[in-house]
Amino acid sequence: MNKKVLLNKLKDELIKDRKLSLIESRIIFGEGNFDSKVIFIGEAPGAKEEELGRPFVGRSGKLLEANLDEIGLGREDVYITNIVKKRPPDNRDPDSREIALFSPYLKREIDIIKPKIIVSLGRFSLQYFLPGAKISKIQGELINSGDYLIFPVFHPAAALRSSSRMADFKNSFKKLKKHLN
Ligand code: URA
Repeated sequence: MNKKVLLNKLKDELIKDRKLSLIESRIIFGEGNFDSKVIFIGEAPGAKEEELGRPFVGRSGKLLEANLDEIGLGREDVYITNIVKKRPPDNRDPDSREIALFSPYLKREIDIIKPKIIVSLGRFSLQYFLPGAKISKIQGELINSGDYLIFPVFHPAAALRSSSRMADFKNSFKKLKKHLN
């Protein structure tokens, strides 16, 4: 089966999963180039994502797109998704129960795309792959997790709140470009 068929099947299963109906918002699935060497994984959709039904389309998404553009990539060239695919109530951080509910789906999504590099955006995404890891210590470093190469980057929302995080965020994209070449 090709990647598109497998991803559509995964999406159908997600939509039908009754355990997920406990969270009252719609499923925002990953999107982009299924053959991308790199996959960007954020935390969970926010208000704009829920409104438009797509990942990273609010302020964080604009910053992500601008930095992709700096390294010669469009968002359609890469694959973008989230660990939790429904917006947590009141825009709070995803909790461990939500992360656990979506975890098998994320694992399958990554296995279908088979990227060379996983860019984890923010600490929740980083700790999904490397439990207990400190983002401020290892952001911008390429780490071999066994199955995949993980490249931890600050979440764009964190970069928007702090000029030093913004500088690190931008620098990470320059390093990413080198790793991709
Ligand atoms: N923040 C995320 O982590 N994911 C999105 O899709 C949007 C904002």
